[in-house]
Amino acid sequence: MADIRQLLRPHLLNLVPYASARDEFSGEAAIFLDANENPLGSATAESYNRYPDPYQYQVKRMLAKIKCVKHEQIFLGNGSDEAIDLLIRAFCEPGKDHIIILPPTYGMYKVSADVNNVAVRELLLTADYQPRVDNILEAANENSKILFLCSPNNPTGNLQDREAIRQLLEGFPGLVVVDEAYIDFAKVGSWAEKLAEHPNLVVLQTFSKAWGLAALRLGIAFASPELISILNKIKPPYNVSELTQDKAIEAMRSYDKMQLQVQVILHERRQLLAALEALPLIEKVYPTDANFVMVKVPAARQVYAFLVDKGIIVRDRSRVALCEGCLRITIGTPAENEQLLQEFAAYPAIAAAAEA
Ligand SMILES: *Cc1c(COP(=O)(O)O)cnc(C)c1O
Repeated sequence: MADIRQLLRPHLLNLVPYASARDEFSGEAAIFLDANENPLGSATAESYNRYPDPYQYQVKRMLAKIKCVKHEQIFLGNGSDEAIDLLIRAFCEPGKDHIIILPPTYGMYKVSADVNNVAVRELLLTADYQPRVDNILEAANENSKILFLCSPNNPTGNLQDREAIRQLLEGFPGLVVVDEAYIDFAKVGSWAEKLAEHPNLVVLQTFSKAWGLAALRLGIAFASPELISILNKIKPPYNVSELTQDKAIEAMRSYDKMQLQVQVILHERRQLLAALEALPLIEKVYPTDANFVMVKVPAARQVYAFLVDKGIIVRDRSRVALCEGCLRITIGTPAENEQLLQEFAAYPAIAAAAEA
């Protein structure tokens, strides 16, 4: 892989970033009259009148310990979606460069590229949802700036083969992003352990899934300090609010609660998968390392509509390439999963009755 600075869009090499008041003075002082804040406090009961730490140092220090990385290897954003957008904006010259994605996969990579007027090359996964390494490396050239991999993959649920990812990290000319939004539900370690070996590796994680904090909007990118400093340079100065930073710290202090919830969800996943397997309506239950499962049913549209009618919303993926006839189901509470199973069990009777 080329030097990170050679991959970067040339105009960013000498970009002078916005210098916030907190950048210019971040030491201890008694009187802050530098940021035009309200000195009296806030309209709310608690005070939020001061701008937050632009680099979220406390959050990163705790996260670095949990994830066994250095805090300089962490970028925090307003959801992973912000990291995806910043990566595309930093490395892809519109009208010239492109990203490579491997459908069926998470929709935001393409949307973010589309918004930035960056071309997207789509190379389908294999029938068992693994990357076609030779295909990808053949299709790649010096304008292939980012390859997005999702492991465990959304919407299929499976992990991407480790050896395939390793070969892509070795052979791909641009950045390789491994989106690990669901890694806490998987039986393998994170690629973040391999950052030192692969300067072109970016690992995405999020507080939205296992940590149960989707409403906060806090996403994580792990990468080399050099790449992290590029993202820091182009991000909006105060991209993570004080409330979000405080709540993330609170959550990390309750690491055990998160772990416990993950164990409950994994237990429920085993139960739900076994029950789905036993239902005549379900043609196939796909293996999963995430907090959701993809299933194949006959006439997916109708099954989806039937569930909506019962007040149960699943994700209809039946018109996605390689996911024909498939629904994606999030693992719910025991009671929710039970209700879903009951509706599934009732479905054929209704279909038969309608036909008669
Ligand atoms: C849910 C999800 C995310 C999380 O996005 P946030 O913006 O952090 O909420 C990222 N990647 C994938 C594949 C996801 O499914």
